[in-house]
Amino acid sequence: ADTITAASLHNPEVRSAFPLCAKNLMDGLSKNNHLKFNGRQQLSFFLKGLGMSVDEALKFWTDAFTRSTSMSLEKFNKEYRYNFRHNYGLEGNRINYRPWDCRTVLSKPRPARGEYHGCPYRDWNPEKLSATLAAMNLTQSQVSSILDSAKRNEFTLACTKAYEFSALSEAPGTANPSEPLITDQTHITHPNLYFDRARRRRT
Ligand code: SF4
Repeated sequence: ADTITAASLHNPEVRSAFPLCAKNLMDGLSKNNHLKFNGRQQLSFFLKGLGMSVDEALKFWTDAFTRSTSMSLEKFNKEYRYNFRHNYGLEGNRINYRPWDCRTVLSKPRPARGEYHGCPYRDWNPEKLSATLAAMNLTQSQVSSILDSAKRNEFTLACTKAYEFSALSEAPGTANPSEPLITDQTHITHPNLYFDRARRRRT
């Protein structure tokens, strides 16, 4: 796949391959021109997992945080730049952190009001979740099936179903079952794995 840059994150085709957790973070970021700490970490590691370079990542975050007039470039450089470079192992203890898998995402404190990290299959109420899934062209029975998994606390299974169903809805002429067959090999347990699969299927 092609390299992901700050500019390509605005490409709808790239964005549509994001799992719901990453879409939610991008939405929160563009709405507020800011993300709180856990949100910054979760999205920053996801972007790193896409193979985005630290230079492109800094370009992306600088633009996102300073786009409105509320934050100056100077303030961004003083208060946030270190954090993003740190995530790439370029500051402080220089640990080359690995992108967060779903288990790590789910191990963080749940998002409070005004926060966007976490996993929507756990953190969103059923109304918001079903409206969002319906907008992804899933049928009512598919949405119910995903919501059932979420209710049983099987969040990654819910997410994998959402992936499988949207793959089916993009392949015209195929049957649209309400229960996909999910094996150990197809179970999505990492936001970057969701993205890689969704990208591969389209190219
Ligand atoms: Fe993201 Fe994983 Fe939750 Fe899917 S299951 S939305 S990839 S954290």
